Parts: sequence; structure tokens; C-alpha cells
Amino acid sequence: MHGFASVGECMIELSGQNDTQWHMGFAGDTLNTAWYVRALTQPDFAVDYITAFGDDAFSNQQMAFLNENGIATNKSPIIKGARPGLYAITLTGAERSFTYWRNDSAARRLAENPAHLLESLKTRKMIYFSGITLAIILPEHRQSFLEVIKQCRAEGAQIAFDPNFRPALWPDHNLARELITQAMRSSDIALPTLPDEQALFGDADGQACAARLTGLGVKEIIVKDGTDPAIVQFEGKQVLVPSVKANAIDTTGAGDSFNGGYLAARLKGATAEEAAAQAHQVAARVVECRGALMPMQTAHDLFMR
Ligand code: ADP
Repeated sequence: MHGFASVGECMIELSGQNDTQWHMGFAGDTLNTAWYVRALTQPDFAVDYITAFGDDAFSNQQMAFLNENGIATNKSPIIKGARPGLYAITLTGAERSFTYWRNDSAARRLAENPAHLLESLKTRKMIYFSGITLAIILPEHRQSFLEVIKQCRAEGAQIAFDPNFRPALWPDHNLARELITQAMRSSDIALPTLPDEQALFGDADGQACAARLTGLGVKEIIVKDGTDPAIVQFEGKQVLVPSVKANAIDTTGAGDSFNGGYLAARLKGATAEEAAAQAHQVAARVVECRGALMPMQTAHDLFMR
């Protein structure tokens, strides 16, 4: 078993609106996590981003961007005629709003061929995905996706999951609850954020959230809650790990980078408590920058000192 694979959707992001001039970037929750795992484990661990790409110029740019930054994409299918999802960030004063074009994105078909998906995931030491991954996968492919995850787990991969509940991506709360709960039952490491869990499951507090996930059989649980301490529960022991002070200017990707910091540390043999401390360090620096991704080398130099 070797390497880390993150499964989900990488989108084209348009930002910095200035009349008709836009800046194009790449974004996605599972990509952000893969990014920080790569920054914090290079060169020791292979990091793969598993999705489905289109065969257009923008998909080519996405792949080139990931590959240039040491994240492999060659296990992901390229679907003829498909295109990546797109979103734009517009500003009204300081208020940000998001417009999406993602209904027919290539990534929605990442589980179209389960045998291929299994082939591209198995033998990984760790596989990560999120509730956004589940939400964007075409409804008729979701069960086969979860079967592939279970199969990889049965063959020895560790499964890490962040529910990342985004109401707009789900037709109703019941379906989200059902699928996210199924994913939890197949996970070794849960990385929820408390307000998301409260919105979907009505947990009274972090303890209630951790107890619910323990009841589903998850053995390693980290409940994030902004600047409040994270609850870290592992091997029957629970500790609170305080966050790191930051001059936050943009919290985009805070939870994703926390997950990256945590999983990278665990891959390298840190304890759950040490990993959560590193995760807070990473997230605290990320919220001090605009956007979710700081340059790969900067992240590596900052956190690998
Ligand atoms: P999400 O991005 O999923 O909503 P949180 O808001 O819980 O997640 O933030 C995730 C992590 O990011 C926190 O556990 C903490 O480490 C860090 N973080 C978020 N906001 C701040 C902040 N203002 N100052 C320092 N760290 C922060």
C-alpha cells in the first residue's frame, strides 16, 4: 500500500472581477486537501487526484497545473466531449457571491466505470473524499462509488472523509443524511466541521457530533469548529486541540487545508493529537492568504522547516 489519493471535482474558478477582465484559477475542496498533503509529504508520498476530466483546453490546463505541482492525474479518465465545471466569484462591496456552471461537468462521471475507478484507487495507503464528491457524482453512480471505496478499504486502504455539507448541492436533507451516513460507516477517519453537522444532523455540540460518529463505527474523529479547539478522538481517548492565532483575511479552504495538514501528519506517523496541532498551524496560515491554495513551494517551505 502506498501513496495518497483524493477523489472529487476540480473546477475552473473565475475571480478578481474587473469589468471584463477575470483571473482564472483552479479550485475544489478535495483538490485543496490533496494540495496540502502534497506540500507536507513531498517527496516521500505519491499524491493522486482522482476525478474525470474533459478533453478540452481548460481540462488540459487543469491537468498541467496539477502535474506541475506534483499531483498526478494520469489515473483519472478523460471523457470525450466533456468539460470542467466553472464558477465565478462576484463582489458587491466586500460581499462575495458565487455563480456556478457545473451541472454537466466531467467530474460528475468519475464513477461511471467502477472497475476503472477501483483500479485507480486500490493499493493506496489512504483515500480521501468528501460530501461534495458524493453530491456531484451522478445519482445513478453513487452506490457503485461507495462500493469501490468499501472494496479498497477491505484491501487495506485507510479511508478519510469530510462530510462538507453544502445544502445547494443536494435535492433535500434526507438524501444528504443518508449518503453521508453511509460514507461515514465506510470511513476510518472522519473530519467533520461542527456547523455543517449541526445543519444536517442537528448535533447539539461537538461532543454530540463525536458520539454520533462513534456510534457509526468511526474510530478516528476530528471535529473542527473554526477558532474553537478541535475535538480529537482516537483509540478511546479524547483531547481538545486549540487552534492557532491568525490574522484571518479569507477563510476559503480553511477546513480543507486543516484536513491536508492532518492527513499528511498521520501518513508520516504522527499521533492524532500531533496531527491536529499541525493541521491548525496549516489552516491558520491559509486563512491569512487570499484563496485556498498558497504556492506549493511556499507551503512546503513554511510547514516543512
Ligand atoms: P470550514 O472551513 O470547514 O468551515 P472551520 O471554519 O472549522 O472549517 O475551520 C477549519 C480550521 O481552520 C479550524 O479548525 C482552524 O484550524 C482554522 N481556522 C479557521 N478560521 C480561523 C481563524 N479565524 N483563525 C485561525 N484559524 C482558523
